[in-house]
Amino acid sequence: MSQEAGEIVKKLTSILGEKYVTASLPDLIAYSCDISPEPRVLPDVVVRPKTTEEVAEILKEANKTKKPVVPRGAGTCPAGFIKYQKNAIVVDMTRMDEIIDINEKEMTVTVECGVTWGKLYYELRKKGWRVGSYGPGSALSATVGGALSHHSLAYGCAKYGSVSENVTSLEVVLPTGAIINTGSGAYPHAKKAQRYGIGPDLTGLFLGEGGAFGIKTKATMMIHPFPEAVRFLCYEAENLKQLLDATYEVSKTRIPSDILGFNPWLNNALGEAGFKSLLGKDYTLHVVIEAPNDKVADAQAEYVDNAAKKTGVKEVGAEWLKFFYYPRFAEWWPRTSPKGKRWYAWCNKIPIYDYLRTHELIEELFNKYKDECEKYQLEPYDVMYFVVDWNTVDALLLVYAWDDVPGAREVVRKMWREGFERFVAEGGIHYWLGSAVGELVARNWASEYRETLRAIKKVLDPNGILIPGMLLLT
Ligand SMILES: Cc1cc2nc3c(=O)[nH]c(=O)nc-3n(C[C@H](O)[C@H](O)[C@H](O)COP(=O)(O)OP(=O)(O)OC[C@H]3O[C@@H](n4cnc5c(N)ncnc54)[C@H](O)[C@@H]3O)c2cc1C
Repeated sequence: MSQEAGEIVKKLTSILGEKYVTASLPDLIAYSCDISPEPRVLPDVVVRPKTTEEVAEILKEANKTKKPVVPRGAGTCPAGFIKYQKNAIVVDMTRMDEIIDINEKEMTVTVECGVTWGKLYYELRKKGWRVGSYGPGSALSATVGGALSHHSLAYGCAKYGSVSENVTSLEVVLPTGAIINTGSGAYPHAKKAQRYGIGPDLTGLFLGEGGAFGIKTKATMMIHPFPEAVRFLCYEAENLKQLLDATYEVSKTRIPSDILGFNPWLNNALGEAGFKSLLGKDYTLHVVIEAPNDKVADAQAEYVDNAAKKTGVKEVGAEWLKFFYYPRFAEWWPRTSPKGKRWYAWCNKIPIYDYLRTHELIEELFNKYKDECEKYQLEPYDVMYFVVDWNTVDALLLVYAWDDVPGAREVVRKMWREGFERFVAEGGIHYWLGSAVGELVARNWASEYRETLRAIKKVLDPNGILIPGMLLLT
């Protein structure tokens, strides 16, 4: 360890105690990766604060020597934020995992940002509540703070948008160590139940920015009664155009909470796993309708069903939604394939009908790398999409790879970066930032936009210590 790192470890130990500061090599190795194919990066030291005040002290200490600081939730970022861990203090937020207040009267929940979406879901459910957009597919490990930094989305996102849409107020530790509350929390005497109405939306400034503007320590989110009645609909489409027509018509009803479109590979994978109604199908549409009672649920399901069927799609069994996706929250998308290969992913939001173009881009990309994929035993798949906010779909595609095939990871990285570039060039909107996406996104901003954000960063983070390099803001 360098002398400088040794000094900072001493200072951090005086703030947090020995148990929650580590610079031991095995520990640093455990923190050296996320789930991207990017190379590992060892930080200098990892700290595990329990309180907002401790987070503030860590940042104040880091400012004295301009030491980089990187907040971390579960580390499931698929886009390579580990690049920024070089020489850094990593702030592992997962000890800050309390659900502080389930306020049924105000219909809000306030949590510490290191809590997982899984814990939040099950604790709210016990009391008959849920947040609207209730977490990513990784919810059993991913934290609220990590997902809010990514604008994550999956469960409930057709109706409720990304998880960021749930938020009314944030407690944020600025890079200088100052602590602020946003939304109606900006009034020290007010409830935190409203996001808008106290001037500009500073809550939004700290959402989906990869953590570049501050460390989120608490979040207040709106909650909804847990639906009493749920209906599941599933349709087979003859081709992609018909699938998109049905997606559009179903989305236009503004009723379902979840709308998912599956490509042939996923239908067959799930079909072979036992969901026979999907076996041999090319394109399928999956729809979840949540309602306060059976009467409303039946009426809504009938309305959505009519909208879908006018596009010519045919109803098939919805067992996958009913017995797996919905009741077994966040269990359906494992990190490895049935064979044990690990996946690396792209996600890309586009208006519903633009998915046709995305599909072409995917085919071009996969064809270009066909020989290398064969040589390195890589399996790329165009998997599925989620409808987000009614008008866009989030396309998920991935490549499965063995860890131990020499050279495979390098090909994955090449193909993966080229994929991001192709999608952004055609207007695709990513949301996981990390270095692979964040820097590309920032290079595509109009110059005035970039300069505005850089000026804000300079004010909030005069020494440029918080995730230096994120979104090319420093
Ligand atoms: C099996 C699997 C399924 C997945 N499914 C989805 C999905 O459906 N939808 C989706 O969007 N993503 C998905 N992901 C990707 C990823 O899990 C999510 O984006 C998740 O929200 C990241 O949360 P995290 O706690 O792991 O964040 P991390 O990876 O730890 O951090 C993400 C970013 O946020 C910053 N950060 C973390 N905590 C804070 C904080 N408190 N304050 C400020 N900045 C912070 C970090 O510095 C980093 O830049 C999936 C991943 C896996 C492995």
